[in-house]
Amino acid sequence: MVAAVGSFLEAKSAGGNWLLRIEDLDPPREVAGSAARILHELQRLGMEPDGQVLYQSSRHAAYQAHVKRLLKKGLAYPCACTRKDLPPSGIYQGTCRNGISGGKKPRTIRFRVNDETCKFTDKIQGQLSDTLTRSTGDFIIRRADGLYAYQLAVVVDDDFQGITQVVRGADLLESTFRQLCLQKALGLSTPAYMHLPLALSTDGKKLGKREQADPVKHKDPAFAVAQALFFLGHQPQPGLALGPLWDWALAHWNSDRIPRCTAVAPVKV
Ligand SMILES: [Zn+2]
Repeated sequence: MVAAVGSFLEAKSAGGNWLLRIEDLDPPREVAGSAARILHELQRLGMEPDGQVLYQSSRHAAYQAHVKRLLKKGLAYPCACTRKDLPPSGIYQGTCRNGISGGKKPRTIRFRVNDETCKFTDKIQGQLSDTLTRSTGDFIIRRADGLYAYQLAVVVDDDFQGITQVVRGADLLESTFRQLCLQKALGLSTPAYMHLPLALSTDGKKLGKREQADPVKHKDPAFAVAQALFFLGHQPQPGLALGPLWDWALAHWNSDRIPRCTAVAPVKV
């Protein structure tokens, strides 16, 4: 909800289009009907996406083509390791970098990282840097079950959709470095990034998807939008109906008001 309102206002206040993508990459974990429910909920809250909604479940051929290119360039390689073969840190030690040792079968495909420091400036979180050899090691781009990893799919689709700005929750902040490396390796475009603080429950825990969705669903849509605005540092006058509330929000949106942190407990209004 916070990411939807923040990204919608950031795009619309700049005269841009607000594009929606359904990241249904993982059919076994998908709740039936959830994409349709999200679309319906956004509409009820007054947020209509521009253009066609892109479903990642329809994009496997594009992901496959990009993985092939990385393999051909030697920037990706098959790996036979299971989760149990990884050290407790979870950082891949490069066991299969120079080929799989005798008798083992390839399971996943990993992207070969280098020890360059990767930097970007986030519109809210500021200047950030990371060295992937130390934080993740060579990471998976195609999983053992044949599905494509989130990191790969989003860079391919951001380029395909002509995305110029990504606005999302700070839980995805760390994964940005892997995406930047993939963009560079594949010659894809790099959008600007803005990571919004995460909504925590009042006891400081991360809200589950279910808890996040429910309060929104049962309340007056204007109340739900106003709550998201408060969370993002904006104070609309109380009691505005949905239409006037959006007019107010579009006229007053200022991303400098968003709390400069990665997580915030929700404001009670
Ligand atoms: Zn391996």
